[in-house]
Amino acid sequence: MISSVTSFVTPFLAKLVWWVGVVGWFVIRYPHQRRSRKTPIASRRERLRERVLLSISFTGLFIVPAIYVTTGEPRLADYPFNPAVALIGIVVFALSLLLFHRTHRDLGRFWSVTLEIRQSHQLITTGVYRHVRHPMYSAFFLWAIAQALLLPNWIAGPAGLVGFGTLFAFRVGREERMMEATFGEAYRAYAARTRRVVPGVF
Ligand code: SAH
Repeated sequence: MISSVTSFVTPFLAKLVWWVGVVGWFVIRYPHQRRSRKTPIASRRERLRERVLLSISFTGLFIVPAIYVTTGEPRLADYPFNPAVALIGIVVFALSLLLFHRTHRDLGRFWSVTLEIRQSHQLITTGVYRHVRHPMYSAFFLWAIAQALLLPNWIAGPAGLVGFGTLFAFRVGREERMMEATFGEAYRAYAARTRRVVPGVF
């Protein structure tokens, strides 16, 4: 059974899944992006720095793998394709999109690409936000792990982990300070009972 499934998983399928994931990500985000634009912004943090971090993340999660799946470059960094590993990558990718969908649903119009507080911003601590403080970042880490499992290339595979990892490392502390400055004790209490990315672990 397992071997008949893995024989179906080819390098072409892995690349196709990567594209389907990109389209799925866009379809999930688009309506929230439109809606959040209509909610006015009350305050904004270090916009330029945020833009630079977003570009680094976008390069690792999209540009480098997109070049790889369309041109096969950088070929020098290729290693042998393993269908069982790619199959795990497909499952992780599906979980990532599911979590991504739920974070957008729970965060609603308080979502933003950069660090911003919207007018009448509320602190969300329900839904997936009950389990971790940054479930959308958890979803991006799952995406980056899926990319590494799907693309058998030492550069295109881990690029998402490096790119998103950089954004996360330089953003999460500042995001939490912004939330604490806005919500005070309510955020401190929320932070005391939750982890950042992995429930109970990290
Ligand atoms: N870090 C969160 C949200 C990412 S979107 C996650 O990974 O799920 C970034 C914006 O979300 C920030 O500008 C902040 O205004 C908002 N935000 C982050 N956590 C929030 C929460 N618990 N409730 C409401 N808004 C939140």
